[in-house]
Amino acid sequence: MSLLTVSGLTKRFGGVIANRDVSFAVASGELVGVIGPNGAGKSTLFDLVTGFQRADAGRVTLDGADVTRLRPDEIARRGVARTFQKLRPFSDMTVLENVMVGAFLRTADVAAAREAAHHALTSVGLADRVDAHARGLSTGQRKRLELARALATRPRLLLLDEVTGGVDQATIPGLVRLVRELHAGGLALVVIEHNMRVIMELAQRIVALQLGEVIADAPPSEIVRNPRVIDAYLGQAWRP
Ligand code: ADP
Ligand code: MG
Repeated sequence: MSLLTVSGLTKRFGGVIANRDVSFAVASGELVGVIGPNGAGKSTLFDLVTGFQRADAGRVTLDGADVTRLRPDEIARRGVARTFQKLRPFSDMTVLENVMVGAFLRTADVAAAREAAHHALTSVGLADRVDAHARGLSTGQRKRLELARALATRPRLLLLDEVTGGVDQATIPGLVRLVRELHAGGLALVVIEHNMRVIMELAQRIVALQLGEVIADAPPSEIVRNPRVIDAYLGQAWRP
């Protein structure tokens, strides 16, 4: 059985159909990429899966259980965590405190939350910045902070919205390595990513969206040869 199943998801914002009849599945431990032009509906898809937006139609299931109408905290408690395209750390809180916010999903005990946050920050390589204020971090470090906060909720499935978006070239390989480590540790991931080199390297399967619709769902080697994906997104550069 799939860990995550999305079937027929549709979401309208006024006249805009942000997601139209979107269906795909993610197996336990799988790493699935999501690509598509700006406005294709990628972030909306994450909003629907995590309960931040309510679908107009369709269903989301986790391990076969319907979670379509659950609140974000209920979905998080069932093991789905996400990061946001727009980073939003609590700037005046320390790095450790930011991550404790995630840990409090699983415990009300402050000492336990602190320990879980330490553990998560160590796993993303920020152990030496625990006492820094979040506003003092570089973009790459803030991406790691977001990851740590998500990991502190102890997810089975992690949704990453534009992992390398907005970071400089030199920072990308470290973030890619980190995502690969998380995947190797058994986590299932869905990764929205614009850098084709990165997503080709990471993903076992790629779902391509255009104007809210799935136009392809295939392994990376097939995605780059798919005429609809080339026309909608990749352009001529990737034509084999
Ligand atoms: P992507 O992440 O692929 O760039 P989005 O999911 O952010 O795309 O947006 C898909 C479409 O839905 C866009 O046309 C966008 O303007 C619209 N949209 C997304 N969120 C909202 C919202 N909260 N209110 C109104 N329109 C929205
Ligand atoms: Mg987006």
